[in-house]
Amino acid sequence: MREVEKLKEEILKDYPRLSKDDTFAFACHSGVPCFNDCCGDVNIFLTPYDVIRLKTALGISSQEFLDRYTLMPFDKNLGYPVILLQMTDDDRKSCPFVKEDGCSVYNDRPWSCRMYPLGMASPGEGSEDLSDEFYFLLKESVCKGFREPKEQTVDEWLVDQGIVEYDEMGRDFKDLTLHPFFQEGSKLTPEKIEMFFMVCYNIDRFRDFVFKSSFLNKFEVDEDTVNAIREDDVALLKLGYKWLRFALFGEKSMTVKGDVLADKEQELRMKQKLPPKAGK
Ligand code: SF4
Ligand code: SF4
Repeated sequence: MREVEKLKEEILKDYPRLSKDDTFAFACHSGVPCFNDCCGDVNIFLTPYDVIRLKTALGISSQEFLDRYTLMPFDKNLGYPVILLQMTDDDRKSCPFVKEDGCSVYNDRPWSCRMYPLGMASPGEGSEDLSDEFYFLLKESVCKGFREPKEQTVDEWLVDQGIVEYDEMGRDFKDLTLHPFFQEGSKLTPEKIEMFFMVCYNIDRFRDFVFKSSFLNKFEVDEDTVNAIREDDVALLKLGYKWLRFALFGEKSMTVKGDVLADKEQELRMKQKLPPKAGK
């Protein structure tokens, strides 16, 4: 992870910055001599939306996806859990999804596979002002796609690769991970790390939690949302982000039901040996 920090510094200092209107020459197709060479021995961090897309495409649960396809590196410097796509143990450390004719999960490939050769950075990380985001080119020596004559703007590339939808979904996750709580170096308790992990990476387990625990008795969640989250992972993830902001940072992103608050107040009064409130 230290290397990641170093690369980040280099990118901010040395890499030419591209706006959405800047152009670059690049193409990737089955005719390039390096076809598939980049789909191995690579660190691919997965976002919550990546996990949802991949486990749905593979027809498996989020738990099965985590067990079969991911690594969970531990870094005490990072305030929240991250997951990586686990490469296979063949000679090339191939991605589990690469086949002779290309990516077998192409329509649902992760955000970083879609972005390549572009990267995105924000010098203002921590300020929550993401308006100064910029793009840059990651020129891997193995990649011959830069010899292809096809020119496009950054924006055209993002649209062509279906990034827009991923970015919309990624915005809430980014807001969460760039929260001042983490930027200031605060640490989550093990219990809160579990909560973060469940919402962000194990959406099926979060669904069980919402419907099988007292969650819906504790929080105001409107009927349309309750109906949507029974099936819709994205709607459930959005609710999960609100719950995390409430539980991790103490924000008012969820409303606690009135009777739960009254019970809590009563409990507190009993602990403090105060007389119960009138009517109780
Ligand atoms: S998910 Fe697809 S595009 Fe990404 S590394 Fe694996 S095979 Fe390559
Ligand atoms: S190395 Fe570059 S050009 Fe070759 S397959 Fe990978 S992305 Fe495409």
